[in-house]
Amino acid sequence: MDTSYIYYAYGIRDFECTKTEYKGNTIIHHIQKRDVKTRCECCHSHVVVRNGFKIRKIRSVNIGTKQSILHVKVRRLKCKTCGADVYEDLHFVTGKQRYTHRLARLVIELLHRMTIKDVAHYLGLSWDTVKDIHKNYLNHKFSHIDIKDVKHIGIDEFALRKGHVYLTIVVDMLSGAIIHVGDGKGIDSLKKFWPKLKRSGAKIESVSSDMSAAFISAIKKNLPDAIHVFDHFHVQKLAGEALDKVRREVYNQEKDLEKRKVIKGTRWLLLRHDKDIFTEDEKKRLDNVIKMNEPLSKAYILNEYLQEVWKQDSYKEGEAVLDDWIKQARESKVPTLEKLGNSIAAYRTGILAYYKCRTSNAKVEGINNKIKVLKRNAYGYRDIDYFKLRLFNLHNDKITRFVG
Ligand SMILES: [Zn+2]
Repeated sequence: MDTSYIYYAYGIRDFECTKTEYKGNTIIHHIQKRDVKTRCECCHSHVVVRNGFKIRKIRSVNIGTKQSILHVKVRRLKCKTCGADVYEDLHFVTGKQRYTHRLARLVIELLHRMTIKDVAHYLGLSWDTVKDIHKNYLNHKFSHIDIKDVKHIGIDEFALRKGHVYLTIVVDMLSGAIIHVGDGKGIDSLKKFWPKLKRSGAKIESVSSDMSAAFISAIKKNLPDAIHVFDHFHVQKLAGEALDKVRREVYNQEKDLEKRKVIKGTRWLLLRHDKDIFTEDEKKRLDNVIKMNEPLSKAYILNEYLQEVWKQDSYKEGEAVLDDWIKQARESKVPTLEKLGNSIAAYRTGILAYYKCRTSNAKVEGINNKIKVLKRNAYGYRDIDYFKLRLFNLHNDKITRFVG
């Protein structure tokens, strides 16, 4: 077989094929370097002598439905100039990997449309090999992330495994790209991010996060000029939790067994928000439970009403709605809601900061949904570094069902 075939089919220069075997589903090409001038791998001296060889078995791209394996004769060269005594490098393979660059490129290409499992099956590779190829590719792609033009960031944390492994992500609010993944949660998780941000020269105008004291002080310290926004999701979550607490309190106090039955199991109806309730039966159940009990009714209305804070046209209107909301909560005569009113009042500035930068959460919510899909795939737990790299790649992953 001539050298140009080896070159065009496999992207391998200066090798010739000495023998081809056909074994079942496999084609084996025995290849060796043509007699071109040899150089020392270390000092590039031509004064070298051959000192034996070994055979490396390397997978390359399939030929039709057949798998192809290259049995490569790798020479060992001893250098008379520098004394090095090493095997020659192969230009078509990285280090000790057992697949060619061309096969790796094909895998990456296929992963745009297929799952790891499908690619592995199609090419006759192991799941781990396909994953490793993807991991190397992503490692290279994200070895440096340019953040100098980022202006609005969002910080969020999530559990990879409930109660065990936490990750904290920093998202570019405009592009939706994840620009940093920190281990753990809270203030320590961002220890490496702040110096990186400083070095990049980025001018951050706003930071969006939850209301934890750790983030508040870290942002004040590291980005004193940025506006700190408490994001809608986390504020709304507080109200939802208070609503659920009132529901449980009401349930425990209720003596009438029939009424208890009505309250029980309405948690999701209460928290779903009015506009998301479609069936007549659900509407009826919701009406029933709200009418039955005044504290629960107040909690429900406050949870719904809070959403209006983010739907106004101006800071002033938003402020008016929020202040009215706080007043109603504080005057509700329901201790849980009064307490909620006081908490929200304490977060007032950060909530209204939304109107000062108006970054939408849409991109971040999109990313959060993709993270959920990614998490469902167990490999994240087996190889956390790979999982993190997949996070960086998420906003490029248009078709999330293909992440497996
Ligand atoms: Zn040398």
